[in-house]
Amino acid sequence: MQGTVYKSTGSWYQVKAEDGDFYECRIKGKFRIQGIKSTNPVAVGDKVIFDPEDGAEVKTGVIKKILERDNYIIRKSVNLSKQTHIIASNIDQVFLLITLNNPPTLTTFIDRFLVTAEAYDITAILLFNKVDTYSIDELAEVKYLAEMYRNAGYECIGISAKKGKNVDKVKEKMTGKTSMISGHSGTGKSTLINAIEPSLDLKTAEISRQHSQGQHTTTFAEMFDLSFDARIIDTPGIKGFGVVDMDREEIGDYFPEFFERKQECKFHNCLHLEEPKCAVKEALENEEIAWSRYKSYLQIMEGEDDNYRIDQYQT
Ligand code: GDP
Ligand code: ZN
Repeated sequence: MQGTVYKSTGSWYQVKAEDGDFYECRIKGKFRIQGIKSTNPVAVGDKVIFDPEDGAEVKTGVIKKILERDNYIIRKSVNLSKQTHIIASNIDQVFLLITLNNPPTLTTFIDRFLVTAEAYDITAILLFNKVDTYSIDELAEVKYLAEMYRNAGYECIGISAKKGKNVDKVKEKMTGKTSMISGHSGTGKSTLINAIEPSLDLKTAEISRQHSQGQHTTTFAEMFDLSFDARIIDTPGIKGFGVVDMDREEIGDYFPEFFERKQECKFHNCLHLEEPKCAVKEALENEEIAWSRYKSYLQIMEGEDDNYRIDQYQT
């Protein structure tokens, strides 16, 4: 049978079969997957082939195979072993909640987040939340930012999670997909989830989960079905959208509006810094590319010598 992993406790995996039933599955034998060495062989979001077992009160099964992942987000442990943990896989899109104040979301943060999403190959959608609280000037700023990010290739929606404005648009975007919701603490993630699905109380789910795990700080991602055809991956306690290691040469490729123009740069390996006849710098001069995006790019490039590492946080 084929199914999708909704929850993992380390040794047991809750798998939803294609017929809609849940199976408590375990794995047998050694798993070698696509060259990544991780502490967990199976992650939330994985599509798996499993053998159901009969006779049990609770439906159980044995996972035989993990289908190739479209993408996955990881966390590296801080201890010396530097082991990789796969937080979740097969994520269609991530919504980033942005607020101008309470708390402020800086463009440098947004840009780093977007670079990470691109590196993971996950579509990012920007939600400018709390539009009900903004002054005329602030609304103009939201409009300016939304225009800038649309220009860079991202979908932007102004919403009020609290008042329900454009929540239907977000639901529409979520339909048929598996989504994650990110953003600084206080930007309205819980409020939005509550507006989308009042019966889904992730906070409660989190508490019961922590309770069942005692004092352990390890938390696990979990997938939830919504009442319409949509799924949310919740990553409680995981402060982040994961960690990405990237080389300096590839950072520019994660700015879609740079990548799109790179072919027209004189040098095929142009870093868009001091090189002559650089299409990105020309677009910058012509105001087709925003300075704030380019500044973020420089910041990320300066971040580390030949290996840049981002630790994003979401809670
Ligand atoms: P989280 O930490 O990202 O989950 O943020 P919360 O959902 O807990 O929201 C933080 C605070 O912002 C709460 O007091 C919410 O009521 C408030 N809030 C969230 N969205 C909106 C909104 O669209 N408009 C207004 N006025 N307040 C909001
Ligand atoms: Zn260039």
